[in-house]
Amino acid sequence: MFRHKLDQLAAHSLTRRLTGLSSATGPTVQFSGRRVILLSSNDYLGLATHPEVVQASVEATQRYGAGAGASRLVSGTLPPHQELESTIAAFKQTDAALAFSSGYLANLGVIGCLIGRGGLILADRLCHASLIDGCRLSGATFRVYRHADSAHVEALLRRRQPGRPTLIVTDGLFSMDGDLAPLPELAALARRYDATLYVDDAHGTGVMGETGRGTIEHFAMESAIPFHMGTLGKALGSSGAYVAGPQDLIDYLINTSRPFIFTTAPPPGAMAAAAAALGVMQHEPDRRARLWANQRRFSEGLRRLGFRLTASVSPILPLLVGTAAQAIAFAEQLLAHGVMAPAIRPPTVPDGTSRIRVTVTSEHTADQLDEALVAFERAGRTAGVL
Ligand code: PMP
Repeated sequence: MFRHKLDQLAAHSLTRRLTGLSSATGPTVQFSGRRVILLSSNDYLGLATHPEVVQASVEATQRYGAGAGASRLVSGTLPPHQELESTIAAFKQTDAALAFSSGYLANLGVIGCLIGRGGLILADRLCHASLIDGCRLSGATFRVYRHADSAHVEALLRRRQPGRPTLIVTDGLFSMDGDLAPLPELAALARRYDATLYVDDAHGTGVMGETGRGTIEHFAMESAIPFHMGTLGKALGSSGAYVAGPQDLIDYLINTSRPFIFTTAPPPGAMAAAAAALGVMQHEPDRRARLWANQRRFSEGLRRLGFRLTASVSPILPLLVGTAAQAIAFAEQLLAHGVMAPAIRPPTVPDGTSRIRVTVTSEHTADQLDEALVAFERAGRTAGVL
């Protein structure tokens, strides 16, 4: 039965395979006995391997154990969880924060607390899968609006039954397109139509905004958007997620959010690593400066070569290819030329928009990026993308 289903996936070039590496993540990695340039990680600031971050994880693991033992409501909260939450709340300038084991779980857990049966959710067409699943699980009616189109959101708000509880759901920085949600417009609509806005800033945290507080800082919307979620597994180099917001919301989540209540708390080492990463991010601001310099260098290089990029304004630089088969062929050629940047295909992105999702980090050197551009040109010609 599974063989038949796998064959069907293969017929549409939609088979996924795990790629085994033999080194830590970083600007280059060891794959099949050779060094390749990695251009697909979300470790935007290189903090997953930063000595201070690794040390914090080791120390917390030695002190508090490899695992948390149970859900925090069952076996108590360890200091690394509390320390991380107060560090996040201070950084994000909110009353409080709550850690989740992953961003996926946070989205499943928060949306259902914000809205339920009888409510209406308006979600961006390109929202992350975990947001979509959270919307489905909530039991609310779920409508999709055109990507980043606040006029469409307004049209849907006008049409709803008066007084119906409504939640607008969006990524801050879109994971597969690298562009931003129109947060000022969405926040204004939420206010005008008495709706709630929920922002997933998984990719914006550490990357966007003057001090890395994310997409909400980028738009100077902190007072208008009182809570949001983000992840610890991307620019913060660790694993897990957080919701930052008013104390009442956090207390409500502790009391009702099933993916918080019914899962083992994240490992203490991961919490300590993320807290250390927040510190490094703030005392090494040059990392973000290098990230943006690399973003400019690489996006200009790709455009000069003639690649079609999305309207990205971030270190996520997707190259639009077309069919899944073309994207796979391109990714294979890239790997043959020493660059790892896998094809992203449906259902992760809409049909016909398969792509190579390139991400640059602060840790890529100019030489590595220039070497990668040569690989993109050669692979693009061989795969017929250029
Ligand atoms: N939201 C967005 C926008 C994401 O890109 C991701 C991860 N790819 C998640 C949530 C899920 O986060 P996690 O990996 O921590 O489960």
